[in-house]
Amino acid sequence: MAYDDSNIFAKILRGEIPCQKLYEDEFALAFPDIRPQAPVHVLVIPKGKYVSIADFGAKASPEELTGFWRAVSHVAKLVGVEESGYRLICNAGPDSRQEVPHFHAHILGGRALGHLLAPG
Ligand code: AMP
Repeated sequence: MAYDDSNIFAKILRGEIPCQKLYEDEFALAFPDIRPQAPVHVLVIPKGKYVSIADFGAKASPEELTGFWRAVSHVAKLVGVEESGYRLICNAGPDSRQEVPHFHAHILGGRALGHLLAPG
């Protein structure tokens, strides 16, 4: 799938749509999910144009890969869930219901999250 520049996270990266920046560096941007599923629900997105984790894994440079994943763990600490624990979710493709075709990681925490998968 080709990268679609009109996706909502591309617009956020271009500053066309606002977000509450929690963290930003040359590789990543983090902001709260607009429809939080847990007391802490933060999205971390790479600055590069990657549709999915497969696209990111295949095409990103070693610096981008390292920078992005370092940012994810840094943001988890920043938002206060490093000690209590958190779940990372990266949806990919139709079965996962990935909505936004710009690769991103969800950081979920702030309460006991229960089993891995919810029904339905
Ligand atoms: P996914 O289903 O993994 O693609 O997740 C996309 C996430 O982006 C959903 O949890 C949405 O609530 C979230 N989202 C969509 N638009 C925005 C926005 N403008 N700001 C923050 N989060 C958003």
